[in-house]
Amino acid sequence: QADIAMYSAKQLGRDNFQFFKPEMAHKALRQFNFEQEIRHAINQSDQFYMVYQPKVNELKEVISFESLIRWQHPVEGLIMPGEFIPLTEESDIIIQLGEKVIEMTFAQLQHWRDAGYTLLPVSINISGRHLISGNIVPFIKAQLEKFTLDGSLIELEITESVLLSDIEQCIAVMFEFKKLNITLSIDDFGTGYSSLNYLKRLPIDILKIDRSFVDECTTSVEDGQIVTTIINLAQNLGLRTVAEGVEIEEQFEFLEKTGCNLFQGYYFYKPLHAHNVINLLIKR
Ligand code: C2E
Ligand code: MG
Ligand code: MG
Ligand code: MG
Repeated sequence: QADIAMYSAKQLGRDNFQFFKPEMAHKALRQFNFEQEIRHAINQSDQFYMVYQPKVNELKEVISFESLIRWQHPVEGLIMPGEFIPLTEESDIIIQLGEKVIEMTFAQLQHWRDAGYTLLPVSINISGRHLISGNIVPFIKAQLEKFTLDGSLIELEITESVLLSDIEQCIAVMFEFKKLNITLSIDDFGTGYSSLNYLKRLPIDILKIDRSFVDECTTSVEDGQIVTTIINLAQNLGLRTVAEGVEIEEQFEFLEKTGCNLFQGYYFYKPLHAHNVINLLIKR
């Protein structure tokens, strides 16, 4: 268990390694419990569920969804992914959680199809550590077969930062995904430091423009230029673009006029519970 205690200290102290101060004790305990609780939640509970945020085209028609995890903790209440995903990424927990996310999302797709709905593609967020773990391609291939889904219904969102950590491994894994017909996108594009040279080598289909640029694309000349540049870059490389975090009409108009392909954000839809998604699906 020593590694767990170390891990807690790392979370608290990061760079300055030190003995626990009294005021840290409570947080340290919570962190310790966190690991145990998340392992428990992954292995034997229904505390995790997925919500689905639509992506729309220029006509505001729903084209696909992004699945986003939620943790309904029996005591703490609803915990958002921003609060626990970074902690899971420090260890192999992210791999177990990532596999659970894939299973839950695929099972949901199968459920909608069995209920008679025509499926729309769904994107899943994949952590860098999971991507280069060595087992993700066989796992997804097996799950596609288990739930009798075609890879063309699945998109994987990968953040830019991971691409630099082990670029050769990433390229190899991505080509394996392309063999399964899976769509690949770079999430939060523009916030990392991916070299254009890497972009050229990766079999990527979509750039997802980070919310921070979309946020001020109509109020800041610089952000407007950045968004325009990303869209032009994508067009020149034969990639599609998705803008995330669209909150107002003006942003949508700017993005649409600039040539962005798909749009996502509270202006259109917030992430939806599965039972509300069926209102947006078409029955066969
Ligand atoms: P992301 O993949 O970039 O997802 C976008 C986040 O922005 C989501 O937050 C979404 O609910 C939120 N969002 C969407 N539209 C708007 C908007 O118009 N305004 C604002 N202010 N926010 C908007 P969420 O669900 O809390 O997820 C946060 C991050 O956690 C995600 O960022 C992703 O990096 C990570 N994450 C979520 N679910 C998963 C998962 O299943 N696996 C992994 N590995 N990471 C996940
Ligand atoms: Mg995403
Ligand atoms: Mg994103
Ligand atoms: Mg984001």
